[in-house]
Amino acid sequence: MADQWLVGVDLGGTTIKIAFISLYGEIITKWEIPTDKSGKTITTDIAKAIDAKLEELGETKEKLAAIGMGAPGPVNLATGLVYVTVNLGWKNYALKDHLELETGLPAVIDNDANMAAIGEMWKGAGDGSNDIICITLGTGVGGGVISNGEVIHGVNGSAGEIGHMTSIVEGGAQCNCGKKGCLETVASATGIVRYAMEKLEESDQASLLRQTLKENGIITSKDVIEYASKGDGLAVEVMEFVTFHLGFALANLANGLNPEKIVIGGGVSKAGEYLRSSVEKHFKKYTFPRVGEAAEITIATLGNDAGAIGGAYLAKSMLTNY
Ligand code: ZN
Repeated sequence: MADQWLVGVDLGGTTIKIAFISLYGEIITKWEIPTDKSGKTITTDIAKAIDAKLEELGETKEKLAAIGMGAPGPVNLATGLVYVTVNLGWKNYALKDHLELETGLPAVIDNDANMAAIGEMWKGAGDGSNDIICITLGTGVGGGVISNGEVIHGVNGSAGEIGHMTSIVEGGAQCNCGKKGCLETVASATGIVRYAMEKLEESDQASLLRQTLKENGIITSKDVIEYASKGDGLAVEVMEFVTFHLGFALANLANGLNPEKIVIGGGVSKAGEYLRSSVEKHFKKYTFPRVGEAAEITIATLGNDAGAIGGAYLAKSMLTNY
């Protein structure tokens, strides 16, 4: 088995990322195919893509040991069922069974944010730690919690919904989940831009953001972060608001979980050290002392590969456990 490969798959709304990964977590090759938005041919598309790639590389199916795939929705790990997806029209969809049938490989599935957390644990910023909170700051806010090396799924697959810790801002903006003021409405790229726009409307304080808005007609979360790190007053105010609420929410989560690492990923995390140190400053104020001493806040290192690497890890675990 030592020279076999694993297949890691990360199913997104527009593309499916696929990678052949060695048993040691090294990416042999990776590529993307478009996502069938009806959700009907996804497993067939994946199987065909894998066969075509094997042929291209002059390899046969025997080279592959197992497949692990992340799906955008809550998952029942034991049955391999995806309970529901927002965009692909899946409801209690037997993804594991379909994947095994189409690819002929033993398969394991999990939620995509959990897969990214596992990837970071194995090969990324988690650095082998067994107690990790992963938070992904993108268009939305996702999360995965690993305790004692195991992903926490909860009773119906919804654990780790960190983005929906709610009333983070009392009476705050409307969230996709139906509540108001969830962490996602503050700390996502979307939330950052919304708050920056509110601040711009409140006053006519000079700011690089105002200049950019005038020139481009829009501002992005990247602009806000960039100008804040340069010391632009209004942008700093926005990022203080964002990192305060992030630090506060993560501190309370950490008080319940006592993690070793808190890994911040997603597009917003490209802000790097500026974001990390601001979150840490607020985080430390609200943690129970021993929790604060033990927890290290760090930026994710695997980027878009985290999900596929996590998938490969779960596939490997499945092979060694059964
Ligand atoms: Zn919400």
